[in-house]
Amino acid sequence: MSERSSAKKWYSWYFDFNLLYRILIGLVLGIILGLVFKEKILWITPFGDLFVRLLKMIMMPIIVSTLIVGASSVSPANLGKVGIRIIIFYLLTSAVAVVIGLAMGVIFHPSAELANVADAAARDVTAPKLSATLLAIVPTSVMQAIVNETVLAVIFAALLIGIAISYLRISGDERKEKIAGVLYHFFDGVAEVMMLIIKGIMQYAPIGVLSLVAVVFATNGPKVVGSLGIVTAACFIGYALHVIIVYGGLVKFYARLPIKRFFRDAKDPFITAFVTRSSNGTLPVTMESAENLGVHKDIYSFSLPLGATINMDGTAIYQGVCATFIALSVWGHGFSISQMGIIVVTATLASIGTAGVPGAGAIMLLLVLDSVGLPVTAGSVVAGAYAMILGIDALLDMGRTALNVTGDLACTTIVASKMKELDTAKWK
Ligand code: ASP
Repeated sequence: MSERSSAKKWYSWYFDFNLLYRILIGLVLGIILGLVFKEKILWITPFGDLFVRLLKMIMMPIIVSTLIVGASSVSPANLGKVGIRIIIFYLLTSAVAVVIGLAMGVIFHPSAELANVADAAARDVTAPKLSATLLAIVPTSVMQAIVNETVLAVIFAALLIGIAISYLRISGDERKEKIAGVLYHFFDGVAEVMMLIIKGIMQYAPIGVLSLVAVVFATNGPKVVGSLGIVTAACFIGYALHVIIVYGGLVKFYARLPIKRFFRDAKDPFITAFVTRSSNGTLPVTMESAENLGVHKDIYSFSLPLGATINMDGTAIYQGVCATFIALSVWGHGFSISQMGIIVVTATLASIGTAGVPGAGAIMLLLVLDSVGLPVTAGSVVAGAYAMILGIDALLDMGRTALNVTGDLACTTIVASKMKELDTAKWK
């Protein structure tokens, strides 16, 4: 056997082993190493910092590209009455989901009590004035907004560019349509490249999580373990409440349809999303359920792919809970009302930019954190708290993806029923 192939063999066990398990093992090993070796393990810190730097590196490009692609894939030609209604439903249910997530955060109060090592800079952050925050949404320079990572301003500019591209694409002027097509494919290409880079970075995640978590446990001791259980409980109870109150309530009281029948057909995409952790991957199953529920094809063939791209209620709840966890852990106190308002806006808009693939929500969480003055920077306490969340991300992602696709199906069914585009014979 040549030296080269034996070298490949030496490390291929790492890549062949399921990534989820690797990250989980990284979390557990990090906890053990931190608790056993205490400050003697702190030399590991740069390995965690490297992971944070890699994530930060792709954050802005991915936000800009996915938001532009998300906004420009809503073709104004398709908007009409159905399109507008479905988008309003998607955005409103996502905003309610963030509120539920924040409420779960307030009720469960998940905190890892990392305050003893909190960085002073983060603690000093005071809530910005609402009028100033609103005005700052419009950047005076798009490039500066990207460089300074002014999240809301970047989102605003990206959405505007995306919408403009989508209008140009149907302008009727051959030249403009061609240019818009090129731009769309360019940003779509950038988004794909970023996704590929994330895949690569995630191969390093087990080591990154191990190092970051080891540092957290070395400096804080065992008292922070239970907090991850509370974060998980808060997320899953939030998910359940959203399904029952929002989807159940809307289907029963707004669309006046039997909820049992709805959930019977929603079960298949729910389970598929739970195990695949991908809204996009679940799309064929969601479409079949919409068909079985009697939704006309011209509605679901537009609304479901759009929903898999822009409607992420589970992700929104997760962001509300996790942002609260990180704030409580780093600052020792939760968000002010105006900060909560900012989170509702950013997390709702971030859901547009969240790709329907495993783990995308965790990247978008970086953006939400940035918007309230909790940037994940190398060596910061925020990074430690974020790594703890990342360690259990697979579990949280299963629940949030299941909710994401159920939301797509619920909104589609409700709008179809309101527009009399539902074959009610199938509900008998
Ligand atoms: N995995 C989720 C989905 O596909 C996105 C996320 O990570 O929140 O819907």
